Formats: sequence, structure tokens, C-alpha cells
Amino acid sequence: MADVVVVGAGFAGLSAARELTRLGHDVLVIEGRDRVGGRSYTGTVAGVPVDFGATFVGPTQDAVLALAAELGVDSTPTYGRGKNLIRWRGRVRSYRSTIPRLSIIELLDVSRIQWRFDRLSRRVPVDQPWTSPIADDLDAISLDGWLRSVHAGASTRDLMAIMARVTWGAEPDAVSMLHAVRYVNAAGGLNRMLDVQGGAQQDRFLAGTQEIAVRMAAELGDQVVLGSPVRHISRPPDRTLTVSTAGATHTAAAVIVAVPPEHREAIEFDPPLPAEYGELNRHWPQGHLSKAYAAYETPFWRADGYSGEALSDEGPVFITFDCSPGDGGPGVLLGFTDARTFDPLPAARRREVALNGFTALFGPAAARPLDYVDHRWGAETFAPGGPTAAVPPGAWTAHGRWLRAPVDGIFWAGTETADRWTGFLDGAVRSGLRAAEQVHQELSRRA
Ligand SMILES: Cc1cc2nc3c(=O)[nH]c(=O)nc-3n(C[C@H](O)[C@H](O)[C@H](O)COP(=O)(O)OP(=O)(O)OC[C@H]3O[C@@H](n4cnc5c(N)ncnc54)[C@H](O)[C@@H]3O)c2cc1C
Repeated sequence: MADVVVVGAGFAGLSAARELTRLGHDVLVIEGRDRVGGRSYTGTVAGVPVDFGATFVGPTQDAVLALAAELGVDSTPTYGRGKNLIRWRGRVRSYRSTIPRLSIIELLDVSRIQWRFDRLSRRVPVDQPWTSPIADDLDAISLDGWLRSVHAGASTRDLMAIMARVTWGAEPDAVSMLHAVRYVNAAGGLNRMLDVQGGAQQDRFLAGTQEIAVRMAAELGDQVVLGSPVRHISRPPDRTLTVSTAGATHTAAAVIVAVPPEHREAIEFDPPLPAEYGELNRHWPQGHLSKAYAAYETPFWRADGYSGEALSDEGPVFITFDCSPGDGGPGVLLGFTDARTFDPLPAARRREVALNGFTALFGPAAARPLDYVDHRWGAETFAPGGPTAAVPPGAWTAHGRWLRAPVDGIFWAGTETADRWTGFLDGAVRSGLRAAEQVHQELSRRA
């Protein structure tokens, strides 16, 4: 018996559990995987910690920054000195800002579309996007449909496709325009979301982001149970909820489900949740994003005057960053890869195509790494997918109002339910703190 059972030991669930413990409640966190962190998962390449999932943080992500500082997990600026590279229409060129060096006409088109996008996003309230007077129109089309409707040029559309792949793990035709503008608004605008300096990629953690989750879990101790997927939640009329895994049943006065909407669907609720909730879960699919890391003796591109940051219109490596621990080495390149073409390949072929991508950008030295590793979130066997939900047209206006509406002592957390920095670690922490506060108020009211 606990006051509160939290389902999921990602940043949302662990933040909720910490906050509730601090407020004096008895909390149990039940996690399906045999590790904490969820979509924050740190591995190694050539002995250097690298993040398979969440890596970067930036200004205004105050909730996760405060959490990391409190737990003593230090961040470091993302390496950004020197020229960026772009592989575009078969040629590799260098540039220095977030937006690559395209022709003047192409650049003007990118600015025009960005201006229109940001202006629309300010007209959509992040907490209740379906109430915007333009909600129905925007939810009726995909991001791709909108780009075509405003006659975006081919280069602008290709750049926005890269943005969609890295942001939602989906193509622009799979994401509702209402979702796209609401999501960007929650991040403070396109520049804030896409920039390195001053934006969401400004800093990273040398120990990896999972270290933050590991430290939260260490504080909670045996209040965190691993390797126990929650299968069943029942809520009898006496308001004592029961949460069951294959091996145990726990009772609680309240439950926080801190898993993405798609994965709520794997839990059986008794009595069943109102039909609207199931509809929401089935229309809130996770996208798919993959990452490849190659490690070299040194970050040789730095010596050549390059930042390690690159964009490519040719897959499967479509964005790169320098994630080296320092100037001395090893040098570590991170490549985001296009899950559609990358994920189905066998391991040796994935390595080959990722290294080909690095080599096309950084030259022949990139073909001979010390070590290589990749990760495909869509291929995870439990709770697959990420970085976040790629919400399709029609879903927000039809189902959005049930995203985090509590039902009979069941509360909802997870980055998908956040209003600030939804989809990011910061949104996950904020959602956990919000759910903890809701539960605290509910239990105080009942006492
Ligand atoms: C490739 C990639 C790159 C990313 N890059 C960044 C980045 O640079 N910066 C950033 O801020 N964010 C990034 N993100 C997004 C970030 O990782 C997520 O927003 C954040 O980790 C979500 O946390 P959460 O707690 O909401 O959900 P999750 O981390 O998904 O946690 C949910 C937990 O619930 C568990 N679970 C699910 N179902 C059950 C069940 N039935 N029973 C028990 N447990 C269950 C899962 O195993 C999981 O541990 C990235 C994600 C990916 C995949």
C-alpha cells in the first residue's frame, strides 16, 4: 500500500515521485524496463558516455536545469567553434549560422516561411490549442500541406522536413500543423528550438542525461521497482486503486501514469477508461528517430576549423554534432539518422552507411573510427519510439482535451502532457511536478 503509485521511471515519473516524497507522501515508482531514464539512455563509444536518447538542454529549460544543478550533474557547452557544413543538392559547403548558406532567393523563402510559422504559432494557446479560432483549419492539414499551401520553395520544404525528422521523428506529412505550431510555441519559437547558442542545443552533460535519472532514483531507493511492466489498473468505487504487474499488486489512493499516450494503451483499465481516452492514445503515436556515434583518436574536424555541426539533404545521416569530451580526444561525432531508411538495415550495413554519411561531410578521416555505436528507438522491444509523439491531423481538435484530464484518482504525466518545452526533458520534469501538485491537492482535499 502506497499513497501514490507512479507508472514509469522517466524524467516525468521520477520528478513526480521526488516531489510527492518531499511533500510527505508514500510513493512507489513502477518501471517496465530494467533501467531508469526512459527516453534518456546513456551508452558509451570508445569509453565516452553518449546519449542514445535526450542529449541537449538550453536556456529557458529552467525545470531540467534546476534539477540537474540540484543533483550536481554538470553541463558543458555544445562545441560550436568554427564553420558548420551542409551537404545540399550533391555539394558540401560551409556556413556559420543556424540557417545554412543557400541562394538569396532560398534564404528569403526560409525567412518568409519562418515568419509566417512563428506568427501562426503565437495564435495557438499551448494549454488548450483546440480553442484557437484557427484550430480547426490548422488541424485539418499536415505541416507539409501547410508548406505547400503557402508555396514554400523546395529548399524550405526540405529544411522543414529535416526539422520534422529531428523534432518528432516523422515526416512533415505525418504531423498536424496545429500540433507543429503548438509544439514550437511551447518551446518559445523556431529559433529557440533549433539554435545551438541561445537555443535548445546549447548545452549537454558530459556524464550523459541518464545520470540525472539515476541520481533521482538513488534518492528514492527501494521506492523504485524495475523490470515490472504495469498491465492493469483498477479503480473500484471505494477509491482504492490497484496497480498490477505480472508479479505483484499494489494499492494506492492515487496513480500517476507517466508514460507517453501511445503506451497508456498497453495498460488495461478496469472499469475501462471513458472511450475518449482510448481514442486519444490511438491517435498520439510516437515518432521514430535513430542516432549513430563514431569515435576517433581526436576531433580532427576542429583542427580543420569545423564545428562538427552539419546538415544533409541526403540520408541517412541528416544532422551531426560534435559530442567529444574535449580537444584532446577521443573525438566523437553524433549523427541523427533517418529512421525510415536506417532502421531496417542490418548492423554492419548501418555502420557502413552512417560512416559514409560522416565521410561525405568531414572527409576520408571519418571513415576510420576507433569505435562505432547506434541506437534505433523504434526497434526497442518495450515502450518503443521517440523522441516524442508525432500527432497527426485531426487528433488535437478531436481528442486533445483528454490528454491530461484526471479520471477517478488517475493522473497523467509525461513530456507529451507539458505546456512548456513539451517533447523535451524539461517538459517531462514540468509535467511530473504538475501531476505531483495535482495529486497532493487531491489527497489533501480528501484527508
Ligand atoms: C533520439 C532522441 C533524442 C532526444 N533528444 C532530446 C534532447 O536533445 N533534449 C531533450 O530535452 N529531449 C530529447 N529527447 C526527448 C526526451 O528524451 C523526452 O522528452 C523525455 O525523456 C521524456 O520523458 P518522460 O518521462 O516523459 O517519458 P519516458 O522517458 O518515455 O518515460 C516513460 C517511462 O515509462 C516506462 N513505461 C512505459 N509503459 C510502462 C508500463 N506499462 N509499466 C511500467 N513502465 C512503463 C518506460 O519504460 C519509460 O521508462 C530525445 C528523445 C530521443 C528518443
